[in-house]
Amino acid sequence: MKQRKILITGASVAGPTLAYWLARQGMDVTVVERAAEFRDGGQTIDVRGAGKIVAQRMGLESAIRAKTTHEHGITFVDERNRTKAQIGVEAYDGNGPIAELEILRGELAKLLIEHSRDKVEYRFGDSIAALEEQADGVQVRFEQGSVAMFDLVIAAEGVGSHTRKLVFGDEVKRRSFDLYTAYFTIPRGPGDAHQMRWFNAPGGLCVCLRPDNLGTTRALLSFQEPPRGYEKLPLAQQKQLLKEKFKGLGWETPRILAALDDTPDLYFDQISQVKMARWSKGRIALVGDAAYCASPISGMGTSLGMCGAYVLAGELGRHDSHTEAFAAYEKIMRPYVDQAQDVPTFAPRLASPHSRTGIAIGHALLRMADTPIFKPLLAKFLAPKADALALPEYQMAGASERAA
Ligand SMILES: Cc1cc2nc3c(=O)[nH]c(=O)nc-3n(C[C@H](O)[C@H](O)[C@H](O)COP(=O)(O)OP(=O)(O)OC[C@H]3O[C@@H](n4cnc5c(N)ncnc54)[C@H](O)[C@@H]3O)c2cc1C
Repeated sequence: MKQRKILITGASVAGPTLAYWLARQGMDVTVVERAAEFRDGGQTIDVRGAGKIVAQRMGLESAIRAKTTHEHGITFVDERNRTKAQIGVEAYDGNGPIAELEILRGELAKLLIEHSRDKVEYRFGDSIAALEEQADGVQVRFEQGSVAMFDLVIAAEGVGSHTRKLVFGDEVKRRSFDLYTAYFTIPRGPGDAHQMRWFNAPGGLCVCLRPDNLGTTRALLSFQEPPRGYEKLPLAQQKQLLKEKFKGLGWETPRILAALDDTPDLYFDQISQVKMARWSKGRIALVGDAAYCASPISGMGTSLGMCGAYVLAGELGRHDSHTEAFAAYEKIMRPYVDQAQDVPTFAPRLASPHSRTGIAIGHALLRMADTPIFKPLLAKFLAPKADALALPEYQMAGASERAA
C-alpha cells in the first residue's frame, strides 16, 4: 500500500471520518478547518443505514448512541398546539423521519475529531488560498501564509466549498428546492419534551422545535422562495428577514423569534443539492456535501458523508494509483448518492403546504402513515433507502463494534 501525505479540508463529518480511516492505514494526514475553533452549532442530523455500519466499524456506535437527542418521534401540531398527527421513532424500523440515531451535528463532529486526533494533525483557522497540481503532488498555499506539498488533497468543505470552486470552476451544479431554512438554538421551554414538534402555517411556512441532549431546544424556521442570496447577508440582516417572514404567526413562533437575537449559532441556508459530473480531478477529490450534498430534506447527508469517506479511504488503501482509487470510490458511491438525491422538487410544498386545506390534507395523510396501504406509499418521503449500499470490507484497522 502506498503511504501518502494527504491534506483534508473541513473538520465536520466527512473530513474527520476520512482522516480516521486514512490514518488507520498509516497515511500522514492533516485536516485544515477554516473556522477559527471547533464549531459546536448545528441542528440534529441522523446516522442511518450504511452510515451506521461505518460508525460501528469505527467503534463509535455506542458513543453516538450515548449522545443522541433521545427524541421519541415527531408530532404535527396546529396553532393551539393540538396534536394533528404523530409518527414515532419506531415507525419504519427506526429509519423514519426521526431516525434511531439523531445527534447534534456539533456533537457528532466532536466525537469524530476526538476519535481520530491521536493520529491526525488538526489545524483550525486556516484554509487553502491557492493550489497547483504538479507532476509529483499538489502545492498548497494556505491563507495563513505557509506553503506545503501533498500527494493528494481532499475537500470536505460542505455545500459551499471554496476549494471545489478553485479546482472545478463552474462544473458544479446546484439543484434548488426553492426553500430557505434557519436552524438555531434557543432556551428550553416548558412544552419542549421528547418529541419534535412541527407546525405548518399557510404560505408554506414551517416552524419546528426539537429537544436536544444539552438542556436547550433547536428551532427551525423554513420558507419557500427561489434562491435570492439571503444566505450571504450579514447575520443581523438574516435575523431581521426571519422576523419579517414569520411575523404574526401563532403557536410558539413569538417565543422563537424573541430568542433569535441572542442565539449563539444561527445556520441559515438555501436548501439545494450539489451535482457534479465527477468528484475528482487529478490529485484532488471531493467528499461529503462538497461532492454530493443531498440536502437536509433527504435525511441522508451525514450517512452519505460517512460512507463516502469510508469508501474513499478504503480505495486509496487498496490502489497505488490515486486515479484508480478515485474511480473506484465514485463507482461504488454514485448509485447510493443518486438514489439519496432522488427527492422530488415539490417535496417542500408537500411537507409545508400553502393553504389551510393543504395542511389539513397533509395531516390526514400523516395520520395514515403507519397503515398497511399508505406506509409503502409514504416511505418514499418519510424513510430514505439508507441501507442501499453494500459497504466493502477493507484491510483497515478500525475499532470495530457490533450493533447493540
Ligand atoms: C456549522 C454547521 C451547521 C450545520 N447545521 C446543520 C443543520 O442544522 N441541519 C442539517 O441538516 N445540516 C447541517 N449542517 C450540514 C451537515 O453537517 C452536512 O449535511 C453533513 O453532515 C455532511 O457533512 P460534511 O462534513 O460533508 O459537510 P459540513 O458538515 O457542511 O462541513 C464542512 C466543514 O468544512 C469547513 N469548511 C468550509 N469551507 C472550508 C474551507 N474553504 N477550508 C477549510 N474548511 C472549510 C466548514 O467550516 C465545516 O466544518 C451543518 C454544517 C455546518 C458546518
